[in-house]
Amino acid sequence: MAEEPPITPDYDALAQMVQAYGEMGPPKPPATPLDLLPSTVMCACNKVVEATDMPALDTGVVRGMDNRCEGCENLNKGMATLVCVRCKTPVMWLEPHEASAGFLFEADKFYHTDGCPGCKPNLEKSTILEQIVFYRKHDIPYDPES
Ligand SMILES: [Zn+2]
Ligand SMILES: [Zn+2]
Repeated sequence: MAEEPPITPDYDALAQMVQAYGEMGPPKPPATPLDLLPSTVMCACNKVVEATDMPALDTGVVRGMDNRCEGCENLNKGMATLVCVRCKTPVMWLEPHEASAGFLFEADKFYHTDGCPGCKPNLEKSTILEQIVFYRKHDIPYDPES
């Protein structure tokens, strides 16, 4: 059985959007517990790690810091990773699934969001940039409530 070619995200459109969102305000570092020095971060496994020891994150659109230490590489494997473009770090992992209008969250792929509870404390619903690009391409009006 032939493998399906991978879907290439529209990085140009995405990069423009990331820039537009970035101009809405300065990015803030992710929230860390007060008892942690700024040079250390808490890994998704709850281990405190030197920030310089954290693997780099490069989604093709955003460059930042992964929040999984080296021992955690396989943590969340097979999940879709949601990266906050302001914090430049993963904020959520989703099981691969089909969302509204046929938009797919695929395993081991990056998706970008315009904000997370760490940088927008009163955030009720964040926007996934890939979803906007997808809706535009298919002429579907974007409804943030769906
Ligand atoms: Zn870890
Ligand atoms: Zn954020």
